[in-house]
Amino acid sequence: TPTVGVLAVQGDVREHVAALERGGGRAVTVRRPAEVEAVDAMVLPGGESTTIDKLLRAFDLHQPIRDRIAAGMPVYGSCAGMILLADRLADGAAGQQTLGGMDVLVRRNAFGRQVDSFEEDLHIREVGGEPVRAVFIRAPWVEEVGESVEVLARVEHGPAAGRIVAARQRDLLVTAFHPEVTGDHRVHQLFVDIVRQSLRERS
Ligand code: GLN
Repeated sequence: TPTVGVLAVQGDVREHVAALERGGGRAVTVRRPAEVEAVDAMVLPGGESTTIDKLLRAFDLHQPIRDRIAAGMPVYGSCAGMILLADRLADGAAGQQTLGGMDVLVRRNAFGRQVDSFEEDLHIREVGGEPVRAVFIRAPWVEEVGESVEVLARVEHGPAAGRIVAARQRDLLVTAFHPEVTGDHRVHQLFVDIVRQSLRERS
């Protein structure tokens, strides 16, 4: 069973731990550089990306996580976590950095003030069965994708229809929404399967 570390500096950590365990993984929290080295994969939760960025650097986690991403560690980023995995950021705060790793341009707070939060049923490639109830909270979207990025889901209704809200680049997975709050663990299960596959290929 792969060990997945949930970055635990800010955000909805407990929900991700629970969803990962229901999705077939072993979940631990990560707050220190040594803990980054000990896990097979990581989840970057939602929260406030500017705060998480500062805390990553304050806790000396920024470089260790970057190094592991560069070495191929699978990472799932949700909402603020998706912002952190983006190589390029639109509407970032002054001085805001990302970890990077994924060849995408992500726009922060993309859906605008009128629609701070909303929910929609989404069809997600690689997630079988019923559509996934997607909860968006001051969410970003993916505005541009590089060649190696596979689009997994787009908004299906309303003014933002067509916007990319889930994507994958090899073992990096991002969603603009929060699957950990709905009790549906299929997105986490997809990630745990990605981690398992990656471990098999490396052994
Ligand atoms: N708006 C937040 C940010 O820019 C992300 C919101 C979330 O993670 N739910 O970091």
